Amino acid sequence: MTLAKAAQRVAEEFEFTPDQVRNGVKEFLAEMDDGLQKDGTFMNQIPTYVTAVPNGTEKGLYMAVDLGGTNFRVCSILLHGDTTFTLNSSKIKIPQTLMKAQTAKELFAFLAKQIEAFLKEHHGEHYECHIEKKQKGEQASEEEIFNMGFTFSFPVRQVGINKGYLIRWTKGFDIADAIGKDVCGLLQAEIDALHLPVRVAALVNDTVGTLMARSYTSPGKTGTLLGAIFGTGTNGAYVEKLSKVTKLTNAEEKGLYDESTGEMIINTEWGSFDNGLKTLPNTKYDAALDKDTPNTGIQMFEKRISGMYLGEILRLAIVSLLDDPAVPLFSDENSGSNDFRTTTLVNKDSALLKPWGIDTSFLSHTGGDSTPGLQITRQVLQRDLGVHGPSIEDAQAVHVIAAAVGKRAARLSAIAVGAIVLQSKRLDVPASDPPIDDDMVDIGVDGSLVEFYPGFEEYMREALGEIPGVGEKGEKRIRIGIAKDGSGVGAALIALVAGRAL
Ligand code: ADP
Repeated sequence: MTLAKAAQRVAEEFEFTPDQVRNGVKEFLAEMDDGLQKDGTFMNQIPTYVTAVPNGTEKGLYMAVDLGGTNFRVCSILLHGDTTFTLNSSKIKIPQTLMKAQTAKELFAFLAKQIEAFLKEHHGEHYECHIEKKQKGEQASEEEIFNMGFTFSFPVRQVGINKGYLIRWTKGFDIADAIGKDVCGLLQAEIDALHLPVRVAALVNDTVGTLMARSYTSPGKTGTLLGAIFGTGTNGAYVEKLSKVTKLTNAEEKGLYDESTGEMIINTEWGSFDNGLKTLPNTKYDAALDKDTPNTGIQMFEKRISGMYLGEILRLAIVSLLDDPAVPLFSDENSGSNDFRTTTLVNKDSALLKPWGIDTSFLSHTGGDSTPGLQITRQVLQRDLGVHGPSIEDAQAVHVIAAAVGKRAARLSAIAVGAIVLQSKRLDVPASDPPIDDDMVDIGVDGSLVEFYPGFEEYMREALGEIPGVGEKGEKRIRIGIAKDGSGVGAALIALVAGRAL
């Protein structure tokens, strides 16, 4: 078989047809509803207690902190009230010893110290004034207190806008003492011990931050519908009618949020959409990848879409060709040997042969390679993936498969975006032709994949146009914009709306 034919055959395994998109949307809508009604479903549909999105006129000075992994980020954000803002920030590496401290207090006291240092550096006068008052025994006024959003990217059971119990640590943290405790309470206690003028007003998920940040900066009167992340993982948060969140009606938390808007932002946790594989594609490469992960059978949607996985799917597909003696991939045809495997151009310690050896950025590099003879792809194959002198045919084969993997991811993403647009019924409102700003359904996105993978949005849009109820007309009313800095300005905006509710 020719190499081109073999590559084409593998690429076809990644085709995701319009019918499959439509079935996926149906299933997504069903699972969304399921998650709004009860716990323990594939998509968790977590209520965030944030009941409004900004419209760009919000004003004031807020703080935001982000504990997500190796670093702790502290920011203050001045919202100008005209969709713009200014931001000060500092980033501190968390000492290894504190990631595994004996008590939660040690870690949270360290975080409070960083907030104190930040205040002294960037808001010195405000800080001094507050401390002086404290020393005189005077009460701090409400305006003096910074409302702060706390982005905490570990699993928590959130029970209120600024209350959430730590379920477990991930990413190298291990402090048994903190499990089951309210992380906002832990941080507030240490802030109070230092007499800082700061209130932990909101516990923030990064997708909600993305939604809020985009809604503040986006044009048009209608607020943003969805904030979506396509980076290491994938997830989205959207605006839902409060009346649909029936699992909240009976919850102990009722009354802890402002019900007047009739809406609530829901963190879908869509990475686990269709873990039952009713509608998702499942090639042998997907199945092999899933087996090789610590969370087999979970996050099945994410495993077909996000940056953490696409490189490995591509690698597995390439290796399947390498394993086929009839396919002359990376073979030195001039060597005179009949056994191509003895003459392979692939280094024995090539990243191609190592599980998880290909980074998803490779898909972007080859996807965007329009050089004659795919020079960039060949260069990367040689430099990063340990292939000696790959031919143009080799590069073309890799390019075709990589494009198929990327395109499938983008078309799968359209299932989530399309279903949420349908759920919102925003396209049912008649629009001008051509649509004007106020007719647009606004979506904020963040993450390397959507930002850098060439054609990600176009492929997603093509699939959106295939969804009944969206169609080509509706697709044109969907506006997708990059929302940067959800954990800064987004968290500040959540602190603002939370401050109103508290
Ligand atoms: P995070 O989601 O962790 O906040 P990013 O949005 O930067 O961070 O996503 C990182 C993921 O994106 C990694 O899995 C990485 O492999 C992938 N990635 C990095 N650069 C690119 C690129 N140019 N094109 C596609 N994927 C990329």
